[in-house]
Amino acid sequence: MKYMNKFPAKGKFDGFGGQFVPETLMPALEELKKAYLKLKKDKKFKRELNYYLREYAGRPTPLYYAKRLSSQVGLKVYLKREDLLLGGAHKINNTLGQTLLATHMGKTRLIAETGAGQHGVATATAAAMFGLKCDVYMGTVDMERQKLNVFRMRLLGARVIPVKSGSCTLKDAVNEALRDWTTNVRTTHYLLGSVVGPHPYPMIVRDFQRVIGKETREQILNAEKRLPDAIVACVGGGSNAIGIFYDFLDDPVEFYGIEAGGKGLKTGKHAAPLCDGSGGVLHGSYSVVMQDKFGQILPTHSIAAGLDYPGVGPEHAFMKFQGRIHYDSVTDDEAMNAFKLLSETEGILPALESAHAIAYLKKMPRKFKGKLIVVNLSGRGDKDVEVAAKAMGVKM
Ligand SMILES: *Cc1c(COP(=O)(O)O)cnc(C)c1O
Repeated sequence: MKYMNKFPAKGKFDGFGGQFVPETLMPALEELKKAYLKLKKDKKFKRELNYYLREYAGRPTPLYYAKRLSSQVGLKVYLKREDLLLGGAHKINNTLGQTLLATHMGKTRLIAETGAGQHGVATATAAAMFGLKCDVYMGTVDMERQKLNVFRMRLLGARVIPVKSGSCTLKDAVNEALRDWTTNVRTTHYLLGSVVGPHPYPMIVRDFQRVIGKETREQILNAEKRLPDAIVACVGGGSNAIGIFYDFLDDPVEFYGIEAGGKGLKTGKHAAPLCDGSGGVLHGSYSVVMQDKFGQILPTHSIAAGLDYPGVGPEHAFMKFQGRIHYDSVTDDEAMNAFKLLSETEGILPALESAHAIAYLKKMPRKFKGKLIVVNLSGRGDKDVEVAAKAMGVKM
């Protein structure tokens, strides 16, 4: 079976995906889909986006041969350095793409949801650069936990709107953002942060993140004259993973998507719906989610704030059941060890999210011994130093 470009426009991946939203939102989603499919083919739009990715965000990012890490894990490892982008993670690929899309649609205002604050910051960044108004919905519990990112967004000229409903976290922020969009759709674009949500978002965000895989392909062919044996990436909502995997889907390359195993799958304290979840609807699409027997979404846990999400993009659910992508998890402790390992062997502090992918190098199936592996280093770890210190029992 060929996987690439198989399901762009319909929004259903063998039943996963779809648009589980109130009827009042359907016109907005329809308008967005039409505009996107038209602009996707527009050479001028592509050129414009490439310009901003290159001159503003810092693309292409290097594909770096990590020699000392390689000898530690017994593999030949290349790192795709998304940590070197503006903002320190891959998220800017998507927010720049969607913001440019919004301006072409004549929108003057962006709204976004954020949990850890990283997507809010990336949205506020793009809004500032294009001169758009920006309102970010954030649960009050998250605002307290992520004070620094709240301040960052405000520095970038965005308003952060506290959400005091439900559990005062990400899922409540999504609901408020959707409500806002329903009333203000004429002026406003809702900038979703990962390959989740109702169609067309999983398709749009994936397409804007595909640049990671496109560059990786060219770079590895240049460096090694061959494709890698496997590619490893961490999976929260799934955007950096699908972004690096996508352009290799029809090649003899294996993929490993690594979820947050938290304190271990058996404890229930994790954020690994692909490894330990079941089919359900969350945030407008049908995918796999962490839920109780009544379909209520369960609380999640991960040391990496960006992976701490009870759902995952529908295309990942599809790929799991197709068997095209392997999914596994690593624990908080394993991620912390990888955080230290990469810092000490290569002088690179990885984001705790990305440290999950690094940690998996030690758990790869034996058949990969000595083989060529690419890891998506989705972000840098400066934001995580405090959490790391706490986990290591260091007082700061
Ligand atoms: C947000 C984030 C993630 C998780 O999001 P995906 O959509 O799964 O990519 C991973 N790594 C970093 C550095 C992040 O900021």
